[in-house]
Amino acid sequence: DLMNGHDQIQSLIRTIPDFPKPGIQFRDITTLLKDPWGFKRVIDEFVGHYRYSPIDKVVAIESRGFVVGGALAHHLGSGFVMARKKGKLPGPVERIEYQLEYGVDVIEMHKDSIRPGERCLIVDDLLATGGTCDATCKLVETLGGVVVGCAFIICLPELKGAERIKRYDVHWLVEFEGE
Ligand code: AMP
Repeated sequence: DLMNGHDQIQSLIRTIPDFPKPGIQFRDITTLLKDPWGFKRVIDEFVGHYRYSPIDKVVAIESRGFVVGGALAHHLGSGFVMARKKGKLPGPVERIEYQLEYGVDVIEMHKDSIRPGERCLIVDDLLATGGTCDATCKLVETLGGVVVGCAFIICLPELKGAERIKRYDVHWLVEFEGE
């Protein structure tokens, strides 16, 4: 093989310029997930990394985080919890508002999704500024959970998300230059 596993994962991610708005380079994982080897390799990488860390709950961030988080929870034998956009969860929720470049966004979780002291792994497809993950971690802690790590397929180092959540153990598989 000429490429290592991480390079092969990276080569399966498609970049769509100017989506959803001008200037954004959208890192599209649909091309990675539709590839049987690619999807399996991503999950196997995470399983290898977290296999010996006791994890009670995988907390996945809407919506691409659900795909990776669901498969990972199954492999680790953990429970699976969804951190969702406003108004999607049917039961009583705890919520957190967080700042975007323009305006605010909201993340919600069911109040009964985590019991105090449970060890939680936060999962999303991509770490950009870290604002979404930072808010999700705070919400998990409000519910009494312990954040044992944050896992991403992709990190965009220029946006310094890893620094924003450096109080946690942060792990990712591939990096892309630019915003
Ligand atoms: P942030 O809160 O800035 O770390 O943004 C992370 C969230 O926005 C993740 O849920 C990503 O799916 C999404 N996101 C941000 N930037 C990109 C990008 N360039 N390509 C694809 N998804 C992105």
